[in-house]
Amino acid sequence: MSNTDFALAVEGLTVSFDGFNAIEDLTLYVDKNELRVIIGPNGAGKTTLLDLICGKTKASSGSIKFQNEELTGMDEYLRVRKGIGRKFQTPSIYENLSVFKNLEVSYPEGRSVFGALRFQCSPAVQQRVQAVAQEIGLDHVLEMESGLLSHGQKQWLEIGMLLMQEPELLMLDEPIAGMSARERELTADLLKRICVGRSVIVIEHDMEFVARIAHKVTVMHQGKILAEGSMEAVQSDPKVIDVYLGH
Ligand code: ADP
Ligand code: MG
Repeated sequence: MSNTDFALAVEGLTVSFDGFNAIEDLTLYVDKNELRVIIGPNGAGKTTLLDLICGKTKASSGSIKFQNEELTGMDEYLRVRKGIGRKFQTPSIYENLSVFKNLEVSYPEGRSVFGALRFQCSPAVQQRVQAVAQEIGLDHVLEMESGLLSHGQKQWLEIGMLLMQEPELLMLDEPIAGMSARERELTADLLKRICVGRSVIVIEHDMEFVARIAHKVTVMHQGKILAEGSMEAVQSDPKVIDVYLGH
């Protein structure tokens, strides 16, 4: 397989903050239809890697190609248009708007919330909202003010807001933090469904959850990749046990 066959190809990526390399010479490939999980101790550089891919942080050197197009140097909003969606750790939904409105304003044509509130909700948009609401399990609470949703439901709503844009690469940073056991199960099922037709990268600590969803696991440590492979291979790797799983 040549490097151009991968949806995402990160090569020799480095970012330096005042001389400290938070990411150092990192190379990583992710396929289409792949659900990759990134694990590693706190401070390993996991969040910084997602920041570099979505454009929140600029790389010091190296390459990030998405569908064979170079992203380094491209503004964050242009990367969104190229199909890159990123969910941060804390949900950023409009709490005083209904679930329906939150999804509606996330439709690509209604980028600004004020523009979107005025725009007529076309049948196409309505259909898309319905489909996404069903996908995230919130179709029965479409008219509810989203501030009243449970913590887990708010996380799903934010995933839904990203799905409205039909991203081809979706990145989620610790999506199950604070969720109940049942919500974690439902989130695992959701992630397994939504990686079809796109690539998904998830940062997660909960190994039971990781085992349930990961196609492949990448272990990061001190800005570098320590190990990569199947859950079984990674879990039995002495290096990984030493720096991460052993604690
Ligand atoms: P993880 O998500 O794996 O816990 P992070 O990517 O948040 O780790 O952080 C990796 C390292 O980079 C940490 O030492 C952190 O303090 C540092 N770091 C992250 N962002 C910045 C920044 N904007 N400026 C300086 N240091 C940063
Ligand atoms: Mg982090």
